[in-house]
Amino acid sequence: MSGQTYGHHTAHERAFTDGLAKRRLLVAKCPVCSSVLAYTQRLCPDHPRAGLEWCTASGQATVHTFSIYRIGYADREPPYAVAIVQLDEGPRLSCALPAEEDLRVGMPVFAEFDSAGSLVFRTQPRRDQ
Ligand SMILES: [Zn+2]
Repeated sequence: MSGQTYGHHTAHERAFTDGLAKRRLLVAKCPVCSSVLAYTQRLCPDHPRAGLEWCTASGQATVHTFSIYRIGYADREPPYAVAIVQLDEGPRLSCALPAEEDLRVGMPVFAEFDSAGSLVFRTQPRRDQ
């Protein structure tokens, strides 16, 4: 099998992860109708020939669903929450959240990059320290 088979998929993921490496949370848009695509979509269903353009998301999102984990995993200290958040632009993505007692579905969360450059979501927008 040639690399071509996976090329499109890989390029799509790479655009997103390259954005993260530059501390930018990106969403894919159709350049024709400006629809924001879900991260599972590779092309606009109405304009599959148009390709995509990547835009920086606002970083504002709401909690769609979450689970609290009480056992540590990798470098995560328990307890923490693993959530699916819905960006204000529409796409959903999974992320870790602080396991705050008042965490609830529908609450607003804010994307930011921690000191290690990892994408994290917080329940409060960052205040300048
Ligand atoms: Zn379109």
